[in-house]
Order: sequence, then structure tokens, then C-alpha cells
Amino acid sequence: MHSTATDRTLCEFLRPDGPIVIGVGGLHGNEPMGVEALRRVVNALGDGTSLRGTFAAYVGNLTGLSRKQRYCDTDLNRLWIEGFGKEEFAAGQFPIDSAKLEALSVEQREQQALWQVLKPHFDVAASTPRRLVLLDLHTTSAPGAPFTVLSGESSGGSLATALSLTIVALPEGAVNGALSVFASAMGHTGLTIEGGQHESEEACDCLEAIVRVGLECLELVPRGTLDPQGTYRQLLEARREGVPPKVRISYVHTIEPEDEFRMHPGHTHFQRITRGQELAVDRRGPVLAPDEGFLLMPLYQAFGREGFFLTQPVDEAPEHAVGHDGNGDL
Ligand SMILES: [Zn+2]
Repeated sequence: MHSTATDRTLCEFLRPDGPIVIGVGGLHGNEPMGVEALRRVVNALGDGTSLRGTFAAYVGNLTGLSRKQRYCDTDLNRLWIEGFGKEEFAAGQFPIDSAKLEALSVEQREQQALWQVLKPHFDVAASTPRRLVLLDLHTTSAPGAPFTVLSGESSGGSLATALSLTIVALPEGAVNGALSVFASAMGHTGLTIEGGQHESEEACDCLEAIVRVGLECLELVPRGTLDPQGTYRQLLEARREGVPPKVRISYVHTIEPEDEFRMHPGHTHFQRITRGQELAVDRRGPVLAPDEGFLLMPLYQAFGREGFFLTQPVDEAPEHAVGHDGNGDL
């Protein structure tokens, strides 16, 4: 029942019943704050006696993190394509032999090692009525309020709402190969959570608050265990101030390296933008917003195919409170 810590495994508090909650940080090597946030929560849990279910936390891309690179060969958060788990592992081929492993990219090897620790939880969830929730913690090159990108098939909406996360709604099938989408496709709840700017203390605090409040919302610990004064909930509510609860993407500014795109400094997620506002420059001159909206993911890193996104609020009835809707939405 004790947690065990290795480089990849931050903790494994295994319980015979109750929900199964898995935290993953650092799937992208330039995003260490997810790992740090999980470490803080693991410390706060102490010997884990308060847990009413399984909680496990893992580091995603160990090699990428050691090199402080988003990825080494390929994007570890685009490799979880449909059938991944089945093809490689259903016939008892896991772990795959060393010769085959040698032929894989750095990230494919990371994926194999990560799946080795994730799979037992997925197996337990598949053979019992226990709910499995995977929280995949990320950061972005720009600062701003935390958000989660959910495609139509995801069941994470009410948890995201309970965590005061703005939902960026995408059509079904729009995000391929993300770990959280893979978890959703396996019948579980997966959330990719963007907590703020890479390496910022603010993002770390925010991700820590999300996991603390998340574990309480999911009833993995009694309420008040990880957020005794309600300060973490308040932090999340304060971060969302002035930001719509749900948006859809209305414009994508795609770029090529030869565009020499440079975002003007100081922009943040969900900043209100007016039509015609100058947001960036490229080799042709100023880049103007084609419409009004809320800015998303202004690009402040050297690589990326999208310079920025514009989003529009989605009006809909508020989602039910987490844990009380009875529709398996978690
Ligand atoms: Zn990321």
C-alpha cells in the first residue's frame, strides 16, 4: 500500500476499490511543471491513508525532460493512435524484445515504458466497474488561464467544469494520438490539461491545484483533505475570471518556417481581441486578427505550425455538478 518512487513512477497508491486516478506529467520534455505539480500532491498525500481509491503518478518523456526538449524524435503525445494498446500487447508480446526496441524512436521507447506502468491500471478498470480518470498535465509557450481541449467523444466535460477549466471544444476525431484521447477511446475519462506557461511557478501552482481539487471532486479523498481551506478552488476560480467557460475555435493562423512569424510579446490565452488588431509580424508585414474573439495559444516557441487561434464562446446550459449527474460523465 506504500508508494514506490522511481524515475518514471512518482507514486503508486494501489487500492482494491474506488476510482482509479492517474496523473501524467512531462509528456513533452520542455514541460517539467506537470511533474513538479504531481510531486507536490504526492508529498501532500503522505502515506496515502486518506485515499479511497487508486492514485498513481508518472513522468511521461524522461529522455525529453533530461534534454529539456519538447521531444527528441517525435511527439510523444501523438503516438497513442487507435489500436496501439491492442496491436502491441494483446498477443502477450509485451515487453517487446530488445532488438525490436532498438529500432524504435526515442519517443516510441518512452511510450513502451510508460504503457508498461499504465496498462495494469487500464486492465483493472476493464475488468471491474471502477472508473478510470487520466489527468495529463501540460503547459504552453504563452501564459494565461488553464484550459482543456475536448473533442466530441470525450467524457471529461463535467470534471473540467468542476475544475474551473475552460473547455476548448473540438469536433469528434479532431485530436489524434493524444494520450487523453486514447484513454477516452478505451472507455475511460482522459483530460489534457494546459496549466499555464512553461516553467512558470504560476503554471505549477495551477496544475497542483487542479490535481488536489480533482482528487476531491472524484471522491478519491474526503473533501477537505487536499484543499482544507478551499484556497486551491479559489485559485482556479480566480484564474478563470473574465474567461468564457467553453469556446470553439473559429480561426487558425497556420504558419510555415519561411514565414518568419513572430508573435508580438505580452499576449495571453483568452485575451479579448478586436478585428484588425495587430498580433504579430511575418516577412510580409503586420499580421492582423481577421475577426474578434478570444485569443488562444499565441506561439512563443521556435517550432509549431500554428501562430495563434481565435475562439468564440459557446453558449449552452451549464453542465451538471461533478459526481451527481449519474450519467457516467466522468
Ligand atoms: Zn504539452
